[in-house]
Amino acid sequence: MEITFDDWLQTAKQMRKDNSFMHRWSPETLAIWLRGGCKCAYCDCDLLESRAVAYFLSARDHVLPKSKYPALKSHPNNLVPTCKACNTIKAYWDANDAAEEIPIVSTNVHVLTDDQRAELLSRCRRYIKSKRPEIVHEFEKEKELIQISLRGERTTAAGNTQAAFLVEKNDKPPCG
Ligand SMILES: [Zn+2]
Repeated sequence: MEITFDDWLQTAKQMRKDNSFMHRWSPETLAIWLRGGCKCAYCDCDLLESRAVAYFLSARDHVLPKSKYPALKSHPNNLVPTCKACNTIKAYWDANDAAEEIPIVSTNVHVLTDDQRAELLSRCRRYIKSKRPEIVHEFEKEKELIQISLRGERTTAAGNTQAAFLVEKNDKPPCG
């Protein structure tokens, strides 16, 4: 028999009841993590790898953004555990209403079925996978520029080119 979200919710509530140190986890969040195998729903990385990952580098992602689908804000099928990296790449991207994708629900939908959820998750995975190389490449350039500066070589022609690139992007640093 398939384990439903409500089954995981009961398990989560029991875990909290039996173990006072579990108080930091809301039953809903714990159930969402348990259902997802405590892995990022998009890249499969282990969210229990360390305390830093579990507490600071993870997110509770809305599969369909809550700003556009307010009725799905708390719907369990619209919530997944993710790593911060995937959550940031996906941001407000809408798997239901994206270029080259056919919408499968309306914006005032109140319920996501398991099949709709599975389809939307696979779209999100594809999207994040397609975006990741570009973002990783940008970071490699940022890293190179920072390392050049650390070595006191910032006046090189290459350094100037890369400095212009960073200013143009106007990105916030990761911890800014
Ligand atoms: Zn991830």
